[in-house]
Amino acid sequence: MRCVMNLLLLFCAGFSVPSQLMAAPNFVVIFCDDLGYADLACFGHPTIRTPSLDRMASQGQKWTSFYVGASVCTPSRAALLTGRLPIRSGMMSARRRVLFPNSKGGLPASELTIAELLKTKGYATAAIGKWHLGHLPQYLPTSHGFDSYWGIPYSNDMDAVKGFPNYRQAARKDPHYFAPTEQYQAPILHNEKVVEKPANQHTLTQRYTDKTIEFIKQNKEKPFFVYLAHNLPHIPLFAGKKYLGKSSRGIYGDVIEEMDAGVGQILKTLEDLNLAENTLVVFTSDNGPWLPFQTHGGSAGLLREGKGSTFEGGMREPTIFWWPGKVAPKVEQQLGATMDLLPTFCSLAGVPIPKDRTLDGYDLSALLLGKTEKSPREQVHYWRSEKLYAIRVGPWKAHFITEGCYGIGPKKQEHKSPELYNLDQDPSEKYNIAELHPDVVKRLQKIAADHIQSIEPVENQLTK
Ligand code: MG
Repeated sequence: MRCVMNLLLLFCAGFSVPSQLMAAPNFVVIFCDDLGYADLACFGHPTIRTPSLDRMASQGQKWTSFYVGASVCTPSRAALLTGRLPIRSGMMSARRRVLFPNSKGGLPASELTIAELLKTKGYATAAIGKWHLGHLPQYLPTSHGFDSYWGIPYSNDMDAVKGFPNYRQAARKDPHYFAPTEQYQAPILHNEKVVEKPANQHTLTQRYTDKTIEFIKQNKEKPFFVYLAHNLPHIPLFAGKKYLGKSSRGIYGDVIEEMDAGVGQILKTLEDLNLAENTLVVFTSDNGPWLPFQTHGGSAGLLREGKGSTFEGGMREPTIFWWPGKVAPKVEQQLGATMDLLPTFCSLAGVPIPKDRTLDGYDLSALLLGKTEKSPREQVHYWRSEKLYAIRVGPWKAHFITEGCYGIGPKKQEHKSPELYNLDQDPSEKYNIAELHPDVVKRLQKIAADHIQSIEPVENQLTK
C-alpha cells in the first residue's frame, strides 16, 4: 500500500513512473504456416479480405523487410522461439528438412525459449497450435517453458493414410477441394496427451482462436505470453462452415479470411479487457507460400520463389506489430526477423538477455517504441540444408548457392562468383549486378565467411 502511495505521490509531483515499475507487458504471437508475403489485403492481395489484419496494420506497424530463420517449418520455428539460427541448435538438416512423426529428435533441452525466459518473471505461458519442434514428451512445449499446450504437434498433412486421392492432383482438378478428415491422422494433444485423433481440421482454426481467448481471459490479472501457431494455410486446406465458399480467392482465401476473423476476435478481447495498451501483438508466418500447390498455395507477390527456397519469397514474411499507445503507426522498411522477438520481449519484460550463448536476434524494442530511428539489424543469413546459401547486408544480397524448391524454380547451382542483387531497387531479384559492384561482392563474401566461422558443430536433431 505504501509503495502505491509513494508511486502516486511521485506521479502527482510530475515524475514519470520508472519503466521497471510499470506492469510487465503481455505478448501475443500469431504465427501462420506457409502464408505468402502477398496473401493479406494490407500487403497487396486483390481478392482476399483481411479487415482485422488491415486494422492491425493501420493502427500498428507494418514491416516490409521482416525475415524468418529458415524457409521451412521446423527450423523456422526453432529460430523464433530461441532467437538463434537453427544451424546452431541442430534443428536444420540437409537430409530431412523438417521433423516427421517417426523422428526421434527435437528442440534440445539446452536451448532457452522465449517462454522459459519469461517464466523467470512470473509470466503465464501457453502454446496453442502447431509445434513441430519434436512430438516426444521431452520436446513438447510443456518441456520448453510453456505452462500448457493444445494443438497438432507437427504439420497437418502428416500421418497421411494411403488409399486416398493425391491431394495435389485432386486440388488441381477442383480448386475448392478439401481432403476427407480420415485421410490425415494427425492428433491434437492437450499438454502431452492425445485428446483427438484424427484432428477435426474443419474446426481447427476457430478452436485455436477460442483457446487463445480463453487463455487471455484466464490470465488477465498477470503478465502472459501466448504463442498461437496456426496449422493453416499449410495444405490440406480446411475452413469452418461460416467461411467456406465465401472468398472469391477460393478455399485458400476462405482459410485466410477465417484466420483474419480470429485475429479480430483476439484484438477485441484485449480491448474489452482493457489489456490492449499493455499487450504487444505480433503477426507473421513461418515461411513463404507452397507454390507447387497452385491455387491451394499462397502468393509471395513480387518476391521471387516461395517456401523452401532462399530467394526472398521463401523467407520474407508479411509482419505486423500492434500495441496501441506504445507502437506508433508506420510502415517500417528496415530489417527485422523472428529471431529478434526473443531479445525484444526480454528487454520489454525486464528479463536479462542470455549471455552464455550466441544469439542471432536483436532487441527491436527501442525502434518499436520510437526511441531510436535505426534498426539494430543490418544483416540477414539465408541458411538451407546446413549451408549458407545467401547473405543480405543493408540493401545488398549475395547468393552463393541458388536453388528452387519442390521440383520447381531454378536447379541447384553453386556460384563461384556470387550473384548480387540490390533488394531496395530490385526486390524481385531479377537483375544480377555482381559485375558492376565487385567491391560489394568481396565485402559480402568476407562477412559471410566470418559468419560461417561462428557456427559450432552440434548434434543434428532432424536425422536422429
Ligand atoms: Mg511452414
